[in-house]
Amino acid sequence: MLFDSHAHLDDRAFDADREELIRSLPEAGVGHVLIPGSSVESSRKAQALAAANPNFCFAAGVHPGSISTMTRDDIDALASLAEDPKCVAIGEIGLDYYYYKLPEERDTQRYWFYQQLHLAYELGLPVIIHDREAHKECFDAVSRFGVRGVFHCYSSSAEMAMELVKIGFYCSFTGVVTYQGARRALLAIERLPLERILIETDSPYLAPVPLQKQRNDPRNVLAVAQVISRIKGIPVDDVIRITAENAARLFRIEL
Ligand SMILES: [Zn+2]
Repeated sequence: MLFDSHAHLDDRAFDADREELIRSLPEAGVGHVLIPGSSVESSRKAQALAAANPNFCFAAGVHPGSISTMTRDDIDALASLAEDPKCVAIGEIGLDYYYYKLPEERDTQRYWFYQQLHLAYELGLPVIIHDREAHKECFDAVSRFGVRGVFHCYSSSAEMAMELVKIGFYCSFTGVVTYQGARRALLAIERLPLERILIETDSPYLAPVPLQKQRNDPRNVLAVAQVISRIKGIPVDDVIRITAENAARLFRIEL
């Protein structure tokens, strides 16, 4: 069964038909979904969805796009969310230098990124990293804090991917691998051992070709597995099985 390791099913985009969509996942071959938090509020929604669905789990974290109003209380809130056995990671957290260019914005992002990395380290939980045009800083930060985890929607070089493998990280790929101009991601897939690759949709964003611009959902994670199967020259069923085992190993869950 497919394991979508990153789908924002708490997003408002799913308000109209969330239950119906969730019910349709098994027949589309989607067995497991990890719902990452993007704010404290969204982490709570992710927790509720995970509680209601046996094969869902969630992560608690504040996305770099939502940290401008973050406070110490939010770190405490994440820590208590993390007590839930279905909370399998801290995320998504990281740095976004694509949307945020001002030095003071980047300082704030860095501060709260480090606070959340520290929390993950203290709790012994893996992290889900959002790295947009901040590759070296994200790499340095996770190695300094000595945490493990995954770089979601991997967009850096094949060389960095191999360095991440050395420090116990995984790289996760989205429908972006079906886009023109995804060369870097494809090169990283070529180099990475399959045992360190995860697949995800990042729903409701990043729908694969030919569905771009439409709302994405976990059923489309198959398109990512198909690209990996082509690049690696192995049957898609093996990609589906191995990437699910990888996610289960990283997030310490039973399939
Ligand atoms: Zn995301």
